[in-house]
Amino acid sequence: TPPTIGASVIPIMNKLQDILAPVGAELSKISLPQVAVVGSQSSGKSSVLEALVGRDFLPRGCDICTRRPLVLMLENRPRNAAGDDDGAEWGEFRHLPGKRFYDFSKIRREIQAETEREAGWNRGVSDRQISLRISSPNVLNMTLVDLPGVTKVPVGDQPTDIEERIRKMIMAHIRQENCIILAVTPANSDLATSDALQMAREADPTGSRTIGVITKLDIMDRGTDARNFLLGKVVPLRLGYVGVVNRSQEDINKNRSIAEALAYEEQFFHDHPVYSGLSDRCGIPQLAKKLNQILEQHIRMVLPGLNAELNSHMMSIVKELRMYGEAIESKGEQGMILLNILTQYCEAFSSLVDGRSQEMSTK
Ligand code: GDP
Ligand code: MG
Repeated sequence: TPPTIGASVIPIMNKLQDILAPVGAELSKISLPQVAVVGSQSSGKSSVLEALVGRDFLPRGCDICTRRPLVLMLENRPRNAAGDDDGAEWGEFRHLPGKRFYDFSKIRREIQAETEREAGWNRGVSDRQISLRISSPNVLNMTLVDLPGVTKVPVGDQPTDIEERIRKMIMAHIRQENCIILAVTPANSDLATSDALQMAREADPTGSRTIGVITKLDIMDRGTDARNFLLGKVVPLRLGYVGVVNRSQEDINKNRSIAEALAYEEQFFHDHPVYSGLSDRCGIPQLAKKLNQILEQHIRMVLPGLNAELNSHMMSIVKELRMYGEAIESKGEQGMILLNILTQYCEAFSSLVDGRSQEMSTK
């Protein structure tokens, strides 16, 4: 299976869980960054998000589809030791508590219906978010945000200040320090005037949490390519760019699956003389890799804190055991040994994460 967002981090989190659970320390203290997509309308934001999650469930299309912010909470449901979890994945909306959606195309329909309930059927936009939780053994605990795109000319029920309203809505999300911004710009438009990059720069002036995503590499004018975009020669970006090919409208109409789309994308980059030399900057799997690398670094940053917590747990347990006196002194020693092992495990684990990040950054 191709890498999706969080896929490489799930085993790390599971290991951490194993280490922390016996001493009662909480993994929930690691709050992972959110990921939000920004860009102009129809630039391919929803398509990118969907491909990263590896599931078909977001409304996509040529008109304005995303008209309310969608906050997507991925929730890892660990398989139990007996392995008798059926591995099922389901979605549940905050506005429909208790109702599990196992069919992801029904999730898409409900997003559309709920969008219309609040924002009407005629292209209206609302900043009231739709909240969807996806429970699965194959996702990481984290939050993704799909946002309406920037639009300039009011249509349908849109108010005259539609552009300003949408900008505000987007900024409110991406200004948060723990938000990784995927700034989405289609390759067939001018990168230098990109709404996505402009807003990302305003929210993240140092570029420390912005990744540039160039979509629609497959439909550029003949004789042009996105080489200079991807190399950061047009608009430099600290964390760089990844070029992708999502499903076209025709693919959507024909119900092409994500797997088919990924296979097509891989072939496209492989066959293209310019992109075959830039393979580390091309493709949804590369984007997922880049995001996972950022998540791993984040975990590495909070590990020392968890380690300190483990140590203080150890101290207090040893102290408590001492209070029971000599009779169980040997038990105290046993506990000490056990906790020592745990700490060593935790340290070994830190270096594991270190090693992986280094391996990736030298690629
Ligand atoms: P959003 O408005 O930014 O969320 O964009 P969507 O994901 O809804 O996509 C808008 C339209 O562009 C849809 O018809 C997609 O099929 C199409 N599209 C998105 N990405 C690509 C791409 O990489 N290549 C092609 N050919 N079409 C794309
Ligand atoms: Mg969208």
